[in-house]
Amino acid sequence: MLSTTDLRGTALSVAELRAALPRAEYDVEAALGAVAPIVADVQDRGAAALLDCAERFDGVRPERLRVPADVLTAALEMLDPDVRRALEVSIERARAVHADQVRTDTTTQVAPGGTVTERWVSVERVGLYVPGGLAVYPSSVVMNVVPAQIAGVGSLAVASPPQRDNPDALTGYPHPTILAACALLGVDEVYAMGGAQAIAAFAHGFTDTTAPTEGGAHPRCEPVSLVTGPGNVYVAAAKRMLKGLIGIDSEAGPTEIAVLADATADPDHVAADLVSQAEHDPLAASVLVTDSPELADAVDAAVARRADATKHRERVRTALTGKQSGTVLVDDLDAGLAVVDAYAAEHLEVITADADTVAARVRNAGAVFVGPYSPVSLGDYAAGSNHVLPTGGCACHSSGLSVQSFLRGIHVIRYDEAALAEVAPHVVTLAEAEDLPAHGEAVTARTDPQGAPR
Ligand code: NAD
Repeated sequence: MLSTTDLRGTALSVAELRAALPRAEYDVEAALGAVAPIVADVQDRGAAALLDCAERFDGVRPERLRVPADVLTAALEMLDPDVRRALEVSIERARAVHADQVRTDTTTQVAPGGTVTERWVSVERVGLYVPGGLAVYPSSVVMNVVPAQIAGVGSLAVASPPQRDNPDALTGYPHPTILAACALLGVDEVYAMGGAQAIAAFAHGFTDTTAPTEGGAHPRCEPVSLVTGPGNVYVAAAKRMLKGLIGIDSEAGPTEIAVLADATADPDHVAADLVSQAEHDPLAASVLVTDSPELADAVDAAVARRADATKHRERVRTALTGKQSGTVLVDDLDAGLAVVDAYAAEHLEVITADADTVAARVRNAGAVFVGPYSPVSLGDYAAGSNHVLPTGGCACHSSGLSVQSFLRGIHVIRYDEAALAEVAPHVVTLAEAEDLPAHGEAVTARTDPQGAPR
């Protein structure tokens, strides 16, 4: 079922390896054409445009864009107790891991009387996108909200597409488990809006004419400074279009798993993990990299069996037979490491003898899952790690979502008179070398006021 790329006996460059491992057709540029009028419409008509988009793309016109507090409470009350407990475990573990990411300010004494402090300040207002098209992701609420809260973000809003198949009382709001996850995390600003229109609404803000008036006027959804969270190609295109006006985490394309495995791996476990990732999206990529042709054959047979039996078999088969999925045969694990580093997968599993040593050599991956008992599904929900990770090869230059994503580092420079005088000649020399003499004069006006031009 999986196509095979045989790289044995080759010594390819990074560029050649990347060409040998194609990714799915995922054309954000093409989606910009569809997204531009949506963004313009939301900017012009605000809530009216959001309601029209919901009707057009989600098949339901929400009664209210902002989810009322009693609806959030009702969603939490109707949440299955087992799902609630599982979400609580996911939140506890994510909080434990993300609490360790908090940055402390550092002050460097550069010279006597001269210091530079790096002060970490959280972004003031953020918009968190939680997908809700093909599948709904309460886990993504946890993965977005926990690091933002731990970073100290003061104002935080969540958006997720309105659902037409919700229970009656919740029709037109985001999926009940998404609402319940927001309630569990103490998030009270939640909007029923999806896709590009949600990103535009966060970027530009809007007056919520669907909400009751407060003091004679409708409340505002104020613009945010940063939007994070995964989404489909329309979400990615809107993020690309609005980047600059807002900060973004990444464009997060279709999800990916690469498994680096040797003959010691259990083929059924590897197959289960490849199928699990394919379940997300017809464009999802599932890639096995191995030095064992016997393992490759056994995984292929197990993948075919599992793909036939799984609930979302059509989506899974499309993903697994797409050009973005397959098996890569290599001579040995060194060659396998070169392949997975060139590919830079969102998720990389290392299931080999001495997996810790092999995993420690990986340079490029969004997250690495080590050994036979660390499947990607664990990280999707309850490992404590974040599941919003760089896709499409971006793991060679970017990290997943973290507390750091919601912070800005500000350098605070404090020199006294003597410290400035001590370094002044070097500043003047460099200013002259750059033919910017006024820069030097701004220093000598302080350190040598008699000699400096006025
Ligand atoms: P989504 O919420 O991203 O998109 C649904 C929205 O797309 C709809 O509300 C609609 O407004 C818009 N839309 C649909 N068709 C449109 C059209 N023709 N024109 C304009 N807008 C349109 O949900 P999704 O579609 O299920 O995509 C979620 C994606 O997020 C998947 O690819 C999934 O793999 C990915 N994901 C990634 C991570 C990660 O951490 N990287 C985590 C969870 C999900």
